[in-house]
Amino acid sequence: MQLVFATNNLNKLKEVQVLMPKPIELLSLATIRCTEDIPETQDTIEGNAIQKAEFLKTHYNYNCFADDTGLEVEALNGAPGVYSARYAGPQRNAKDNTNKLLAELKDKPNRNAQFKTVIALQLNDKLHTFTGICKGTITEKKHGEGGFGYDPIFKPEGSIKTFAEMSLEEKNRIGHRGKAVQQLIEFLNKL
Ligand code: IMP
Repeated sequence: MQLVFATNNLNKLKEVQVLMPKPIELLSLATIRCTEDIPETQDTIEGNAIQKAEFLKTHYNYNCFADDTGLEVEALNGAPGVYSARYAGPQRNAKDNTNKLLAELKDKPNRNAQFKTVIALQLNDKLHTFTGICKGTITEKKHGEGGFGYDPIFKPEGSIKTFAEMSLEEKNRIGHRGKAVQQLIEFLNKL
């Protein structure tokens, strides 16, 4: 079965591709020649995931799934949350975003945070959602070169390393996206 993953983020595509069951042929947006910006204008993580999957279904008529992720920081009342990509401005720059977050948390003792991923699957005209959460803390400074986004400043619960210091396999095993993808895979395996 062919399934489109509605992302232009090659890091994410790579992360998810290695987890997919063999009979699923994962197609990228480039493969289906979707070059337009898929709207994500909702004010919740779940709303954005659903909006992206429905857009793709409506305009390209593929079975597909879309994900949306946010980093929710306790001391900032859940910010940056759904605005994680644009936290430091419309340039969507990971370095600016992490620097801003470190500055906002300066002198704040509560460093608790969680990544939340929602995957919305549009399959044969039915919508299904899967949520993965990874709890952890925001470090005082950046550690590690791997991953992307906020990875250098997020240390998952029970780990001495940030996401940026882990291999892809390690991150997938305990990470938010990995958990949501596992639920998606369990669902697809039961079809
Ligand atoms: P998206 O909805 O998956 O595009 O994620 C929104 C923003 O959250 C991204 O631009 C990143 O800044 C951040 N983000 C998403 N997933 C991760 C991750 O696994 N590690 C670090 N940052 C992430």
